[in-house]
Amino acid sequence: MDINGIREQFPILQRKVKGKDLIYLDNTATSQTPMRVVDAITRMYTTTKANVHRGVSSISQEATDLQETTRRRMARWLNAASEEEIIFTRGTTESINLVASSFGSMLEDGDEIILTVMEHHANIVPWQLLRSRRNITLRVVPINEAGELDLDVYRSLFNERTRLVSVCHVSNVLGTVNPVKDMIATAHAAGVPVLIDGAQAVPHLKVDVTDLDADFYAFSSHKMYGPTGIGVLYGKKKWLEKMPPYQGGGEMIANVTFEHTTFAELPFKFEAGTPDFVGIAALDKALDFIDEIGYDNIEAHEHHLLTYTTERLMRIPGMRIFGTAPGKSAVISFLIGHEHHYDIGMLLDTQGIEVRTGHHCAQPLMRALGVEGTVRASFAVYNTIEEADKFIAAVQRVAAMLE
Ligand code: PLP
Repeated sequence: MDINGIREQFPILQRKVKGKDLIYLDNTATSQTPMRVVDAITRMYTTTKANVHRGVSSISQEATDLQETTRRRMARWLNAASEEEIIFTRGTTESINLVASSFGSMLEDGDEIILTVMEHHANIVPWQLLRSRRNITLRVVPINEAGELDLDVYRSLFNERTRLVSVCHVSNVLGTVNPVKDMIATAHAAGVPVLIDGAQAVPHLKVDVTDLDADFYAFSSHKMYGPTGIGVLYGKKKWLEKMPPYQGGGEMIANVTFEHTTFAELPFKFEAGTPDFVGIAALDKALDFIDEIGYDNIEAHEHHLLTYTTERLMRIPGMRIFGTAPGKSAVISFLIGHEHHYDIGMLLDTQGIEVRTGHHCAQPLMRALGVEGTVRASFAVYNTIEEADKFIAAVQRVAAMLE
């Protein structure tokens, strides 16, 4: 893998923070964006900006083609049955809210949904909002010491009122890669559909929604080298056809009168209003970036960074790493003794190292781990062993300072 060639595509990696070379290790929150994506955005704003799906004018048709090219590509990329199953949203959060609102409206009092304790707030709060409208029950799968789901408990939670499982593919705190294919098979055996929150999976591993047999799969463009403000909801046609629209407005209708409105076909039924068609068009270039490197190379490189760094951090007295599941993703959440995560993060920042501190939008998980927050370092394909070395040395210095 030509790591220098990859890094050259990301101008931000050349910048300084507090006079030091930037070492960007907050890729779980958002990844950086290669120039080809930025160029595609600029090109579209300067040459091809007209609203999509609005009639016969040339530029509008060109813009529509660019948007729909990404949709077709995304369908192939995820191995979806058809492009009608690809809905563009604002992000993982909106994708999950769409399902909670629309699929959720078909639930009845007494129905149950299975979640896990390691979910991001984006996969907790929408279901709680639904619970404030329907008297549903949320069942929660716990984790073991290593940060793996307790699958015995998972299997025991199904009953005749279970209507949905909603679980993350990869934990944004622990890095655990959940056995979602098996979990989906278990749910389907009980006649229950499954939503997978793939926000932390798609940037790092190949996802095939047909092989997984996922009913819904949600993720964000900005975490996978694409533009901000765009998400994808994959949904099986059989569900999307049954589900009512999420939002009302332009684009999502077939015919409107004051008495009655009929809705557009899939996927447009779920895409009210003007989408971020510029960003959607540019997302295609992020897929080029990933495809050029290949997931095998991405996984191997990130795994090397993870094992190299974890091994060395573990030698630091008082080091506590949260999430040690085999095959985990390249996310390291840690604390040093009982030092506050915020102090560790501040001291790392003075050395040019961007990590994340806090609860990582996973407060129930923090409670289960018995901590208020952690420091989280997360890798992307452009990170290097030299950066890992600098990060390890910086953590060693911080540990010595706080001793
Ligand atoms: N789900 C997981 C597992 C995440 O890590 C995140 C973001 O960090 C989200 C959902 C929410 O993503 P977004 O803010 O892009 O909607």
